[in-house]
Amino acid sequence: MNEKIALFTIFGGTGDLAKRKLYPSLFRLYRKGNLVDHFAVIGTARREWSDDHYREIVRETIKDLNPTKEEAEAFSSHFYYQAHNVNDSDHYDTLKKLSDTLNEQYELGGNHIYYLAMAPQFFGTIVQHLKSQAILTDNGFDRLVIEKPFGSDYASAYQLNEEIRAVFPEKDIFRIDHYLGKEMIQNISAIRFANNIFESQWNNRYIDNVQITFAESLGVEDRGGYYDHSGALKDMVQNHILQVVALLAMEPPVAFSEAEIRAEKVKALQAIRLYSEKEALENFIRGQYGQGELDDQKFVAYRKEPNVAEDSQTETFVAGKFLIDNFRWSGVPFYIRTGKRLTEKGTRINIVFKQVPVNVFKDDIDKCGEKTDLPPNVLTIYIQPTEGFSMTLNGKEIGQGFTTTPVKLDYRHSAETTGNSPEAYEKLLLDSLNGDGTNFSHWDEVAQSWRIVDIIRQAWDKTSVDFPNYAAGSMGPDAAFDLLKQDGFTWDWEP
Ligand code: NAD
Repeated sequence: MNEKIALFTIFGGTGDLAKRKLYPSLFRLYRKGNLVDHFAVIGTARREWSDDHYREIVRETIKDLNPTKEEAEAFSSHFYYQAHNVNDSDHYDTLKKLSDTLNEQYELGGNHIYYLAMAPQFFGTIVQHLKSQAILTDNGFDRLVIEKPFGSDYASAYQLNEEIRAVFPEKDIFRIDHYLGKEMIQNISAIRFANNIFESQWNNRYIDNVQITFAESLGVEDRGGYYDHSGALKDMVQNHILQVVALLAMEPPVAFSEAEIRAEKVKALQAIRLYSEKEALENFIRGQYGQGELDDQKFVAYRKEPNVAEDSQTETFVAGKFLIDNFRWSGVPFYIRTGKRLTEKGTRINIVFKQVPVNVFKDDIDKCGEKTDLPPNVLTIYIQPTEGFSMTLNGKEIGQGFTTTPVKLDYRHSAETTGNSPEAYEKLLLDSLNGDGTNFSHWDEVAQSWRIVDIIRQAWDKTSVDFPNYAAGSMGPDAAFDLLKQDGFTWDWEP
């Protein structure tokens, strides 16, 4: 039996995340039989809503999943609403009464998942109240799921962690990085550790460089207020990108278990070179989009977006080079770049292999009368919007004479497979029900990522750049291309 038993208490139950991601994901789990009879959801937020209104909203959020009327009714009947101000102790007493009632009514065995779908400044007060108002029980489990951002630098993350750890042990804290729930991010481990052809070459003897691109074609949309205080470095690099670097760079774990994988990821992050501020400026560049156009569409500059300061110094683009000082990776640059309003949306990883020691075909002439260069073998892992991987090899061009030509072996999941695969939040919610923290960020990982990123931020805060420095619809500032050019590389970018 697959049924999971728990009471979810969602703080921020009227918010965007709850409506767009959490309720549809819970419904998918319901439909698949992971949630059946023994579950209930309390949504809390400041507004005064009735249970009926809340259930109507929940049904609205799952409309696109085409439930039958009976299914939608039955699912939403498990949802209860409690108006709640997170700073008011009395409200937690009311919450406790409702929790206890639902616990008995649905026979939940005291299993609790507290999901904080709210701004991080509330995390501390919520967890303190959960303890002081005795909402946490000794029966079943008490797990805490929290959203990014986890702090805004190492010091604030440390402080937040102390507050949370005073109430929840690390094993019960599930820090969401939704990229870790994505199919192809999880596939990195399969590609590496289930294929000897790759793992035997996964080191500085065979790999020239690694390129990680998280490109967004959208601008800042309606998130200007948040984003202008964050920027691409904190919003993308500190969490998602460094998690990907860790998965690519870690040593093979002795078993595919949470503790083993986590230990290897932490070691990989610890091996990333901590730059001096001078080195940070040399190895990391920032950008901000100005106005631009693409495919006849015109885009305004970042500084003209809603809720963005007219003289904003916030970066909407980052490119950089990480160096990993261990036996496996010494000398192999890990280039990363991420940005908004780029030419296309695409998250992908390129593993660029070294050339053969001698190019015996160097004197061959191609159709245009040019000498042929051997392009490097590249393994690409496509994370979104398409999912799959490809490998470029060199073969012989059909015909007389002997000319080499690149051949691409390309595998992508079909749209149908991708459409049917569990959404990241669905996977992560199920993991939290199973108590499996493999695909969440451990404090040691978060802490080390902040140490790496803080230096870059400090270096940038002491210097200024002339923003905007790339046109909306382009692939970022020239300096992002120069970063690789000076090392003799280029970004490999083929959809
Ligand atoms: P939101 O502003 O849409 O929702 C915030 C919720 O908190 C609302 O339900 C609001 O009523 C409630 N709230 C605010 N102050 C309160 C108080 N004093 N007492 C009780 N309730 C209060 O925000 P969101 O977009 O849903 O984001 C929530 C969290 O998730 C944030 O930390 C955000 O960074 C993170 N996050 C969101 C997304 C997303 O796609 N929306 C993605 C990644 C991370």
